[in-house]
Amino acid sequence: MTALPAPFWLPLPDAPDFPAEGFAPLADAIGRLMGTRNDVLLVQGEAMVALEAVASSIGAPGRKVLNIATSPYGQWFGAWLRRAGAEVTEIAGRAPGRPVAAAAVAEALATDRFDLVALVHAESATGILNPLAEIAALTRAHGALLAVDAVASLGGHPLALDALGVDIAVMGPQKALGGPAGTSAIAVSPAAWERIAPPGAAPSILSLGDLRAHWLETGRGALPGTPSALEFHALAQTLSRVEAEGPEAIR
Ligand SMILES: *Cc1c(COP(=O)(O)O)cnc(C)c1O
Repeated sequence: MTALPAPFWLPLPDAPDFPAEGFAPLADAIGRLMGTRNDVLLVQGEAMVALEAVASSIGAPGRKVLNIATSPYGQWFGAWLRRAGAEVTEIAGRAPGRPVAAAAVAEALATDRFDLVALVHAESATGILNPLAEIAALTRAHGALLAVDAVASLGGHPLALDALGVDIAVMGPQKALGGPAGTSAIAVSPAAWERIAPPGAAPSILSLGDLRAHWLETGRGALPGTPSALEFHALAQTLSRVEAEGPEAIR
């Protein structure tokens, strides 16, 4: 019989708690890394959970979304938006495995009125980088909100959400930051909050409204539910390593 491996943090008999006052500094560090002063919500789950939460919280009947899908991640985001009742128009890359052309985005925005534009910044499977700055400028001129999946790009490419005018961005520590896979985070602008569904009758890990009501508005102490201490200790280590090395050094 093979024994289970001993945890490396012995001699503690159990995993150490993650202190309630430790969560807000994690969110602040993620905000600094993403170049935003907007609210940053911590999600206890891999980035797929955060992406599904965004789509579920902002998708609504009558809402029109231009979804730029250059990989399955974008297609799944569109499917979650549709499930939430949104009307989704999809545009793909110039060819499979190629980025979207900014001109195709401009054309789509010229032919219809959209409330939200969504895209994946960098794709991990193909290595492509979509033209975020151009798309952000087009989206601002159109008067729509912009949602970005920055899971694969944060840490690997420069990203300054507020300078670009990104309203919603999802990050995960487990790609270019080299961190744990069990946490993620979502930055939300004041304009995006106006379109996000309020909390429902029962708690939901997919509700940004719940995180706002039960975490942001209660002073950013302990997260709702039972936080997995190990994941947050690992996230804290990742963020302090990245801050110590500097974002330029890790790119
Ligand atoms: C990896 C990845 C995700 C999903 O992240 P998980 O942490 O694996 O859930 C989402 N979007 C992009 C672009 C990714 O590369």
